[in-house]
Amino acid sequence: METAGPLKIYFLPFFAQGHQIPLVQLARLIAARGHHVTIVTTPANAQLFQKTIHDDIASGHHIRVHLIKFPNTHVGLPEGVENLVSATTSATAGKIHMAAHLIQSEVEAALKESPPDVFIPDILFTWSKDLCKRLQIPRLVFNPISIFDVCMIQAIKAHPEAFLSDSGPYQIPGLPLPLTLPVKPSPGFAALTGSLLEGEEGSHGVIVNSFAELDAEYTQHYENLTGRKVWHVGPSSLMVEQSVKKPAIVNETRHESLTWLDSKEKDSVLYVCFGSLALLSDKQLYELATGLDASGHSFILVVHRKNKEEQEEEEEEEKWLPEGFEEKIGKEKRGMLIRGWAPQPLILSHPAVGGFLTHCGWNAVAEAISAGVPMVTMPGFSDQYYNEKLITEVHGFGVEVGAAEWSISPYDGKKEVVSGERIQEAVKRLMDKGDEGEKIRKKAKEMQEKAWRAVGEGGSSNNSLTALLDHLKPLLPK
Ligand code: UDP
Repeated sequence: METAGPLKIYFLPFFAQGHQIPLVQLARLIAARGHHVTIVTTPANAQLFQKTIHDDIASGHHIRVHLIKFPNTHVGLPEGVENLVSATTSATAGKIHMAAHLIQSEVEAALKESPPDVFIPDILFTWSKDLCKRLQIPRLVFNPISIFDVCMIQAIKAHPEAFLSDSGPYQIPGLPLPLTLPVKPSPGFAALTGSLLEGEEGSHGVIVNSFAELDAEYTQHYENLTGRKVWHVGPSSLMVEQSVKKPAIVNETRHESLTWLDSKEKDSVLYVCFGSLALLSDKQLYELATGLDASGHSFILVVHRKNKEEQEEEEEEEKWLPEGFEEKIGKEKRGMLIRGWAPQPLILSHPAVGGFLTHCGWNAVAEAISAGVPMVTMPGFSDQYYNEKLITEVHGFGVEVGAAEWSISPYDGKKEVVSGERIQEAVKRLMDKGDEGEKIRKKAKEMQEKAWRAVGEGGSSNNSLTALLDHLKPLLPK
């Protein structure tokens, strides 16, 4: 049973695309169910999703944005730089994280001015725990990584003896299934995630952009370990597609990659993208390009070059490109380069896309599953090394390239490079239409069916959202 009166819910997305996209989608889903939703954010962040909110308002949903100032001058960032998508160095990223801490008083003022029934911040706003306690506002936490990752993090923390050797693979004990990691996790990452998880304490549970069928044993394991409830409300992009009415599209230009894909055979193209943050070194990009070329398969390669000075320099000479690469793939009509933001969910849903070479960001994984596209995994940093394991070892809907070393940061180029041969080999295993590739493709389609069932009428994620709202009903003022 759905709640009777509308709940007043405030959301606070963290300033990064991988965090903001799914939490805004959750806010839109809840507004579509008749609740009154406010997204608290800063001006440049609001611009990234404003259009979808306008469309929802036009459809009659109660959703609005409450703008707070981004403390640019306090942290020493230029106007308009408010999201990690604009960062190319750890120093800039550090300032954005600092700003996320400094907005506390503005958020407090917004919550005091018009107290919501519930507050749903991103897990990175660890200060929200004490703030909500002080203001006596019930809180739920949004965790943009998967519960499987959280279980991995906890198992690694509990078993330091598993990492005594200098080289991998390392067996991870203490999980529903024993798993291996090819590289040693960085101690800094374990400490960081450990303190984040403490931020979940005192909340009404944790919301994840996932569905129960994807990590059922791990959810049970996590709930037993922490005593906290997990609410699966995903894949959020699929949920939104299914349940939020789309406005009529007026003169929207179709991205050129989609037109290019129209000319390709079903399942013949590999889509290659490393998310919104990771900056691959020139050496790694070179190996990637040669590996893709040598695989003989068609591909779309997304390269983000975000640093302005670097961009100007690169315009003259893109040092990472193998000589004649772009001309060759263009002439053979075999490859396309996208420099900048790609319409990822649309590309993944195109029938010509038969594989996704991914950095294993959690949203990328959820989007690939939703589209039934098998993956070639090449983790970039942090939780992505764990996601690779869920894709390859737990579910078998991907082929592992792996990483040469563990990195905690998306910006500082790794010293070790994954070779073009290794990439070529993994791409061929998936895309060559052999038995192995077909088996993996079938598993991806099976998981896609489960995801679609989860978000449909009576499905697990749909029911979980209803149960979550019902759980919050007693918080309504009497
Ligand atoms: N994304 C996109 N176009 C791009 C790069 C990324 O639409 O060119 C989207 C992608 O679909 C996903 C999000 O940005 O929703 C990135 O989140 P993810 O967790 O995959 O990786 P992160 O960027 O956090 O490393």
